[in-house]
Amino acid sequence: MTHIKNNLAAIKLQITQACELANRSIDEVCLLAVSKTKSADLIQQAYDSGQRAFGESYIQEAVEKIQQLTHLNDISWHFIGPIQSNKTRLIAENFSWVHSVDREKIIYRLNEQRSNQDIPLNVCLQVNISDEKAKSGINVNELERYASLIEQAKHLTLRGLMAIPKKNDSSESFHKMAELFTKLKLSHPSIDTLSMGMSGDLTEAIANHSTMVRIGTAIFGEREIAKE
Ligand SMILES: *Cc1c(COP(=O)(O)O)cnc(C)c1O
Repeated sequence: MTHIKNNLAAIKLQITQACELANRSIDEVCLLAVSKTKSADLIQQAYDSGQRAFGESYIQEAVEKIQQLTHLNDISWHFIGPIQSNKTRLIAENFSWVHSVDREKIIYRLNEQRSNQDIPLNVCLQVNISDEKAKSGINVNELERYASLIEQAKHLTLRGLMAIPKKNDSSESFHKMAELFTKLKLSHPSIDTLSMGMSGDLTEAIANHSTMVRIGTAIFGEREIAKE
């Protein structure tokens, strides 16, 4: 119990200090606890310590845990992993956010499969910011087109952008993301989310306008299964 509680307190302190350094208010940065590969019991412990937003990357295990934790009715589930098109229904039906949208087909399917719910699905577009050939994410020059597609989708709400920079160039990538976010906001003023920063680089991300840091290891410890 206590180690997750302590880890959460330590991360919040780190976020507070990063905000102070960047001259930002702590209300501008949301903490997403990344619980992939971690048990429902550990998620419950984080919840009992006050955490409400959780990120998952593997749809099958995520849905199992979501179903085990339906009694936590103010929890919010964010899907942050690669999306296979035959898994979109599970995302549309079980999550309130998805951060990793990067294909047209996925947008159409999520919109269609969300249509029987009152609340639209919150969507961030994943950007291939380090321009890696094999990496997921939209090319920078296609962002505007994708943003418009989501604006037109009745059951989706465009919230912003997400990125997972390459290990050694996160500083430059975060800076580029901040510029893209500011630019996209001009044509889509309602967007409010820049999802970037993980356990190892959250201070840098917050210095570059991140509004949501996705933290796994620093809260739940190392993951045993190195699935990524
Ligand atoms: C696993 C994962 C994280 C969390 O990474 P940590 O280094 O454990 O904090 C954040 N974002 C995405 C997309 C992930 O897959």
